[in-house]
Amino acid sequence: MELSQQSIESLRNILEGEKNIVILSHTNPDGDAVGSSIAWGKALERVGHKVTCIVPNRFPYYLAWMNGINDVVIYNQQSDIAAEAIAKADIFFCLDFHTISRLDSLSDELSRNTKAKRVLIDHHLNPAEQFDVMFSHPESSSTSYLVYCIIAALWGEKSITREQAEVLYVGMMTDTGNFSFSYLTPELFRAVAVLAETGIDIPQIYNNVYNSFTEGRARLFGYTINRKMRTLHKGTVAYMSLTEEEMRRFWFQQGDSEGFVNYPLTIKKMKMSAIFIEHHDFIRVSLRSRGKVDVNIFAGRYFNGGGHKNAAGGKSFVSMEETIRNFEKAVAEYAAEGMI
Ligand code: 5GP
Ligand code: MN
Repeated sequence: MELSQQSIESLRNILEGEKNIVILSHTNPDGDAVGSSIAWGKALERVGHKVTCIVPNRFPYYLAWMNGINDVVIYNQQSDIAAEAIAKADIFFCLDFHTISRLDSLSDELSRNTKAKRVLIDHHLNPAEQFDVMFSHPESSSTSYLVYCIIAALWGEKSITREQAEVLYVGMMTDTGNFSFSYLTPELFRAVAVLAETGIDIPQIYNNVYNSFTEGRARLFGYTINRKMRTLHKGTVAYMSLTEEEMRRFWFQQGDSEGFVNYPLTIKKMKMSAIFIEHHDFIRVSLRSRGKVDVNIFAGRYFNGGGHKNAAGGKSFVSMEETIRNFEKAVAEYAAEGMI
């Protein structure tokens, strides 16, 4: 990964002296969001800074085993602790998101502290705001890999402890679909080798994350694929939907629908997949695609969202029926433009 020497030097300057630091990551934090935050936080603590990691809402239960995750402040449950850390902060590090809107109501809290420096460490396309220092690398397969590269540049790869290696590996593994998506560079595997040298237990990490679901989740998955998947455009586009009532029936816990949207892409001719998940006041849209089909553009154009070329998301503020109608129309329009 080519990091800008100028950004590394700016970062060194900003980190001069003991600082109060807040590390922020996105709503519905995933393995990469918490993995990169925890590892970066530990690196900063080692050199004498005071660090608080904050996420807008709770992480999924299958990440609860991660070392250090209980110190991550969950804004919608511990807003006082978060507010105090934010008010005192000299630096905000924004990890694994490219627009402050991905923080939801936590972004209002941030706007009260105007003096803190802002540093972006992220791998999404098109950062929306200005930052004092920016590490924006869409060619990085995860933010965790980017954090690895920054730690290596500042303090050397040997400074990475087994604890840090474990959470960085979680981020790299989850954001690449266990090393099966894009940007799988030789450098990434060299980084994995360095993490492995710390003695992390890779099969155990895999089991902790991917083989730790509830029975309800397995049954909900079967139901979603069997009963709720529809296809469009000669079987090359799939979509699924889940209402709150359906999720309740299967004892839904946050994170249970993670990964469902990938499954239709196991069908050979499938090019694009979507899932619509009902929340109290909106519907969360998740999109995945293969090859040249660009769901980042699709999410931006039709669902107020974004992400990466082959994995993106957004929101819909109309009913499930209308969301589905809008999606079908959008797919027809996108296909007519030769985009699918
Ligand atoms: P997921 O479908 O796993 O929630 O998200 C896939 C990708 O799309 C992630 O990289 C995520 O950051 C991005 N994404 C998901 N929801 C939104 C959203 O509402 N707005 C934007 N800008 N990006 C999103
Ligand atoms: Mn990520």
